[in-house]
Amino acid sequence: MKDGVNKLVIIGSGPAGLTAAVYGARADMEPLLFMGTKYGGQLMITSDVENFPGFPEPILGPELMERMKAQAERVGAKLVQDDVVRVNFKRYPFEVTTPTQTVKTLSVVIATGADPKRLNLDSEMRLMGKGVSNCAVCDGFFFRGKKVAVVGGGDTAMEEATFLTKFATSVRVIHRRDKLRASKALQKAAFSNPKISFIWDSVVEEVLGSSRVEGVKIRNIKTGKESILEVDGLFVSIGYDPNTKVFAGEVELDPMGYVVTRNGTETSVPGVFVAGDAHDYRYRQAVTAAGDGVKALMDAEKFVEEKLRG
Ligand code: NAP
Repeated sequence: MKDGVNKLVIIGSGPAGLTAAVYGARADMEPLLFMGTKYGGQLMITSDVENFPGFPEPILGPELMERMKAQAERVGAKLVQDDVVRVNFKRYPFEVTTPTQTVKTLSVVIATGADPKRLNLDSEMRLMGKGVSNCAVCDGFFFRGKKVAVVGGGDTAMEEATFLTKFATSVRVIHRRDKLRASKALQKAAFSNPKISFIWDSVVEEVLGSSRVEGVKIRNIKTGKESILEVDGLFVSIGYDPNTKVFAGEVELDPMGYVVTRNGTETSVPGVFVAGDAHDYRYRQAVTAAGDGVKALMDAEKFVEEKLRG
């Protein structure tokens, strides 16, 4: 920090933010990272993680995040468990405000991630990680030889359903209308896959099971008829909400709220970079978010160096 101005503020404490912090500290950027009161991102609601390189045995999502946090602190990043409530990217140095302070900074990495949309059922939350999942790529492997259901009719739902057929014996797609929203190509792939079948005009009313998913109660919204579907897993694939409300009017967001990028991690404001699910709705993996954090940090470092050189 020089004259009360930070070189780098990172907002968000999932794999993108914490990896940017590790690289930032080692690059002498003295990163200040606002973790949010609810720190750790989506991995905090994930159980076994089997696909993070370097962990031959499964590691629990929260434990992986604890380790990333410890690593960032060990190399010298300053982590503060506060929510960012306001930013001002129209001034330079930029201003970042939490409920207790406003800090100035030469660069920012936005790494606030996205939250999967939920059905908002108590049983869904209770069985999250115990058969209920939001990520087929992460959890599909656990359903080898089992029966699963996918909720949703968009691109994500079709991709997830198709991916799950590698493992599951059957994939039932439960959609609230009788038409899919997904692109024609993804629809075609799903319709032609013999393991996938569709339950139209239906919603999930309850996820059944005490310690593991055993089935779902569904209701046909046209006929009102309720039925029980026996499945071992439920993938809720009804879209994501990027956590970017605080940046509205400060950087360009697309109509869905994702940060618009140019040249990799650059946003519409020079000096403000983005990493992870706050802009990336395509890959959404802990590993890709971490890699993105590195790219954003390297771009921020170059930007700050040029600023300091004058
Ligand atoms: P999406 O397009 O918003 O689709 C969400 C789906 O979930 C819709 O079918 C919606 O039903 C349903 N849904 C929403 N809320 C629901 C609720 N409470 N209960 C039951 N169903 C509900 O989301 P997405 O599929 O995640 O895609 C997001 C964006 O990423 C899109 O622009 C998509 O094109 C893009 N994407 C692209 C690819 C690709 O190109 N390979 C892959 C993934 C995502 P309705 O249809 O009735 O609204």
